[in-house]
Amino acid sequence: MDNASHILTPPAEPRIFGFYLDGDWIASGDRQVFERASPAHGVPVTRIPKCTEDDLNAAVASARVAFEDRRWSGLSGTEHAAVLLNAAALIRERSEEIAYFETLENGKPIAQSRGEVDGAASICEYAAGAARSLHGDTFNNLGDKMLGLVTREPIGVVGLITPWNFPFFILAERVPFILASGCTIVAKPSEVTSATTLMMAEILTEAGLPDGVFNVVTGSGSEIGQALIEHDDIDMVSFTGSTAVGRRLLQAATGNFKRLGLELGGKNPQIVFADADLEDAADGVAFGICFNTGQCCVSGSRLLVERSVASQFETLLTERLSRVKIGDPLDPQTQVGAITTPAQNETIVRHLEGGPKEGARIVCGGGVLITERGQFIQPTVFADVTPDMALAREEIFGPVLTMQSFDTDEEAVAMANDTEYGLAASIWTKNIDRAVATMRRVQAGRVWVNTTITGGPEMPIGGFKQSGWGRETGIYGVEEYTQVKSVHIELGKRTHWIS
Ligand code: NAD
Repeated sequence: MDNASHILTPPAEPRIFGFYLDGDWIASGDRQVFERASPAHGVPVTRIPKCTEDDLNAAVASARVAFEDRRWSGLSGTEHAAVLLNAAALIRERSEEIAYFETLENGKPIAQSRGEVDGAASICEYAAGAARSLHGDTFNNLGDKMLGLVTREPIGVVGLITPWNFPFFILAERVPFILASGCTIVAKPSEVTSATTLMMAEILTEAGLPDGVFNVVTGSGSEIGQALIEHDDIDMVSFTGSTAVGRRLLQAATGNFKRLGLELGGKNPQIVFADADLEDAADGVAFGICFNTGQCCVSGSRLLVERSVASQFETLLTERLSRVKIGDPLDPQTQVGAITTPAQNETIVRHLEGGPKEGARIVCGGGVLITERGQFIQPTVFADVTPDMALAREEIFGPVLTMQSFDTDEEAVAMANDTEYGLAASIWTKNIDRAVATMRRVQAGRVWVNTTITGGPEMPIGGFKQSGWGRETGIYGVEEYTQVKSVHIELGKRTHWIS
């Protein structure tokens, strides 16, 4: 069947999942279950167990034993790489199934899910290389009687908490790197999008990952997530989600001083200078706010445009946005799917209604298309936005763009940095001096010049300011899960202290 034209339909019955412990499925049994309905079709698509604290303890114990007996950390980089390469091949084999459930649970367009699954396989392949490259350092300059080694060791058991916006891709930006470091994992996906994390567990076992190295507990953030971040037998938590929950994590981590990797929210500027290719910039800005229905931590949600071209740019942008295809995410032609959760929908609608009350003007969109089965929001642009407005400050996490104008490069940088966040920024100009000068001064972990929301596993991702701590992907993403040990080796006969 031709993927580009064939429109899939939701399943007749929800798929039933267990959780994943010590290399095997555990059925929900008499536990409560969470039934997920597709946000675009309104029908139940998956059913997952609500794990108990005992389940979490069992998963942590399994990961702990697997770590301490060195069944994984004791293997060579070559052996780690072999499992990751097998996993990549299996992800490709099961790509249609994974993409289908990603779209059903999240509401994102199927063409996008397919791209993300392919990207996830490619990340595993990259991480296989990183597993073989991981190394420490030597100090051969300490004199003939001493050799200094700096070794990197896996930090231990990692708790991995992921959000609903890119359930499989965000998982793939972390798991292969954590595994490449030699750590073991207890993963807790978002309760609304657990299916593909559970599929990943099955794939890793089939790929040859020893039992107990990757465990998945399912359930709510406030119960299982909170218990995980407070767990004293977890050495590190890698958390991707909202800044509000990230803050709770800081408090919960004090119990055993666990290490934290935090990838949090963003309110990312799109800086368009008058000398940009305005057609390209308009296309990029439209993509940057529509991609994943604006539910991206790196969505370009604040347009800062040089005043001399502001009106021309507004016309170019709104014309493009009017042509974006919104609708059934199972249709391969769809570009913008459904809003993932009712709570997220409410947040977006609150901003759509609040913006005009604050004095902002809707330039295009603003419509909420609630069908009988799902919730969809038109890409919306607000002009006459001032920096103090909630619209300009809060992460909306929807296809809602604010537009502000600047007159000088200094003003553009000041406006770009006028946020508590520092995740990403995009700069549109054909002047290389201006691009580099702006890139250097903008406070963001990722900067795109004449493009947006792109990248690959080679380069690190992470945030400045309140957008987080630490870096994922690239060789940095493996080192993140290691700790450094200094070793002094004395050679020859010791010079005695007691003569
Ligand atoms: P969220 O913070 O509500 O939830 C994220 C995860 O944390 C989920 O698995 C959830 O169950 C869990 N959780 C919730 N409460 C918890 C608690 N008390 N203790 C432990 N875990 C808990 O975020 P979300 O709504 O799923 O995702 C949207 C947010 O994620 C946005 O703010 C977005 O910017 C951010 N995000 C950031 C990145 C990044 O790379 N920086 C990537 C994707 C999403």
